Amino acid sequence: MRLDVVRDERLADHGVALWLCRDDLTDPELPGNKLRKLKYNLVAAREHGHRTLLTFGGAYSNHLRAVAAAGRRHGFATVGVVRGEPYQPLNPSLAYATAQGMRLTYLDRDTYRRKHTEPVLTALREQFGDCYVLPEGGSNALAVRGCAELPAELDFEYDLLCCPVGTGGTLAGLAGGLPPGATALGFAVLKGAAFLADEVTRLQTDTWGAPTTNWRLDLDHHFGGYAKTPPDLLAFCEDFTQRHGYRPDPIYTGKMLAGLYARIASGTIPAGTRIAAVTTA
Ligand SMILES: *Cc1c(COP(=O)(O)O)cnc(C)c1O
Repeated sequence: MRLDVVRDERLADHGVALWLCRDDLTDPELPGNKLRKLKYNLVAAREHGHRTLLTFGGAYSNHLRAVAAAGRRHGFATVGVVRGEPYQPLNPSLAYATAQGMRLTYLDRDTYRRKHTEPVLTALREQFGDCYVLPEGGSNALAVRGCAELPAELDFEYDLLCCPVGTGGTLAGLAGGLPPGATALGFAVLKGAAFLADEVTRLQTDTWGAPTTNWRLDLDHHFGGYAKTPPDLLAFCEDFTQRHGYRPDPIYTGKMLAGLYARIASGTIPAGTRIAAVTTA
């Protein structure tokens, strides 16, 4: 994986070193972590003879885009179950998904909350036939296994591996794949995301039988909540782009990097720490 060293006096002043692990460049169409999360799910779907992938997401979901692109590439039909009411014209994410051949269907918010329950799944199967069902955000044990392969692609020494956190699958996997002595730090992009600790624990337990103890969650840099992009966050992203030639996306990697810089500035990260930050987008 490509590594970009970040030369920045705001880091040097605190004695920390930072590399960007450019997983955003792993595939031109699919954000790196979404591709990793799908890898073993696609193998399982094929092994079980499925021809259709069905999954869930909000109208701006990167996961829906990724499933649509992966389905097209690997010969699966795809169904995207979208939260909320249909809206025309389709936003760029949903327009992209349909251009890849994804069929869309919508669930009102109340039904959507129950999307992973049997009655809702049965109704969807009646409508679309037998499908390989991927949970919202694509996070399950197979996704965690895919993400756990990333640390082995980093052939340099680091103490802290950072990533943005939506549903927790990526953090669960990265932590599981870390070399001894390293710690993973995930930056939650949602507000009120304390439940994520249980979620990461559950995903690791589903994957390996027990959780690892080498990860932490930062819940303080959501900038108002999912997809909220206040001016201070946008200014940070713009400044980072000017300085370093990498444009953080404000939804995920911008919050991770802004949160990381805030923690470094406040001295929460000890001098001498070698930090690797995974740029998922
Ligand atoms: C989905 C996504 C994440 C979060 O991954 P989770 O496994 O859901 O925590 C991070 N970055 C980008 C760009 C994403 O699309």
